[in-house]
Amino acid sequence: MDNKQVMALKENGEKPEQDIVVQQGVEIAIAQAEKQVDILEKVLQIAIKRTNHFDWVDQMGKPYLTASGAEKLMPLFGINMANTSYDKKFSKDEKGDYYIYQYKATFSWKGGSLEAIGACSSRDKFFAWDSREQSYKPLFEVDETNIMKAAYTNMLVNGITRLLGIRNLTWEQLKDYGIDKERVSRVEYKSNKTTKPKTTNDTILTCQNCDKIITNAEKKYSESKFGKALCRECQRQESKRS
Ligand SMILES: [Zn+2]
Repeated sequence: MDNKQVMALKENGEKPEQDIVVQQGVEIAIAQAEKQVDILEKVLQIAIKRTNHFDWVDQMGKPYLTASGAEKLMPLFGINMANTSYDKKFSKDEKGDYYIYQYKATFSWKGGSLEAIGACSSRDKFFAWDSREQSYKPLFEVDETNIMKAAYTNMLVNGITRLLGIRNLTWEQLKDYGIDKERVSRVEYKSNKTTKPKTTNDTILTCQNCDKIITNAEKKYSESKFGKALCRECQRQESKRS
């Protein structure tokens, strides 16, 4: 800030001291924000450089960190995980019985912490879809430990990527640090086009922001209002922001 501005403020008859303080406050805030961006960029760089092509998958054209990648980053950044718990919910619909495992834990790093959730249902496409029959396998044929483990690793990946701010990355960002889309394996399911479920977890709808399980009605409402699927809590945050 130069003197001319200070003089001008005084001639306006406003309280110059206060304006200067506000102005400095803004400058500090900008400097802090810039520093924050620098830090996030560094985190991104360190995190991606530590991973290799096996630590990422191409799911519907987007890059996702795998559990192996998340497990590498956790000790690297000194991320702490605590209060791990899970529950199993049973449900039923026209296709029969199914269950959902949901894991929860608190992840902390550098004084910040968040609660992450990971879910997997017994109708997970990867574990339960019978491509020959074009239907879900009967429940007794689904290995429950796989569903449990998948819920856990989903939580791990969610917690770590959210804490480090490395969610929703693009292939361009990854390429800058040596991860090439062409070398990353693609998650694909062999089945015919008509009855193929659209997502990996077609029985579970989750909040795009915090991974909490949401209902179809909540998803529809949120998508029409905010353009993305959010839980009620995140919808509240979103409307406060706008
Ligand atoms: Zn949410």
